[in-house]
Amino acid sequence: MRSRYSAFCLGHANYLLTTLHPSKRRPDELKQIENTINTTAWLGLKILDHKQANDLAEVEFVAFYEDAPFVQLHERSRFTREAGQWFYHDGVFMPDIKLGRNEPCFCGSGTKFKHCHGS
Ligand SMILES: [Zn+2]
Repeated sequence: MRSRYSAFCLGHANYLLTTLHPSKRRPDELKQIENTINTTAWLGLKILDHKQANDLAEVEFVAFYEDAPFVQLHERSRFTREAGQWFYHDGVFMPDIKLGRNEPCFCGSGTKFKHCHGS
C-alpha cells in the first residue's frame, strides 16, 4: 500500500500497473494511471488499519491530494498475494475522517493542521 502510494507520488506508472491484479486491469490501464499521476498532487498518507490473514490483506487509509486546498481519499483496499507478489484488487470508499486541528498536518510540514492545510 505504502509502496503504491509512493509510486503515485513518484510517477512510477509501470509499478502501479504490475501491482494491480491482472483481472482488474482495463485495456487502457496504463494510460489511466498516467493520467492520474499527471493530474494529482499528493500531499500525504495516513494508514488507519491493516489486517493480514495468509495471502489476503486489507488496508484502510486516507490519502490526501491537493484541490483548493485538499481532498481526502478514504478507502478500505483489498490485496491478495499470489506467488509471493502482492496485488491490489479493489477498494471501498469511505466518508472523510475528522482531522484534529491541533494534530500535526497530514502533509508532513511539522505544523499543526489548523496553521497549515486546515487554516
Ligand atoms: Zn499541511
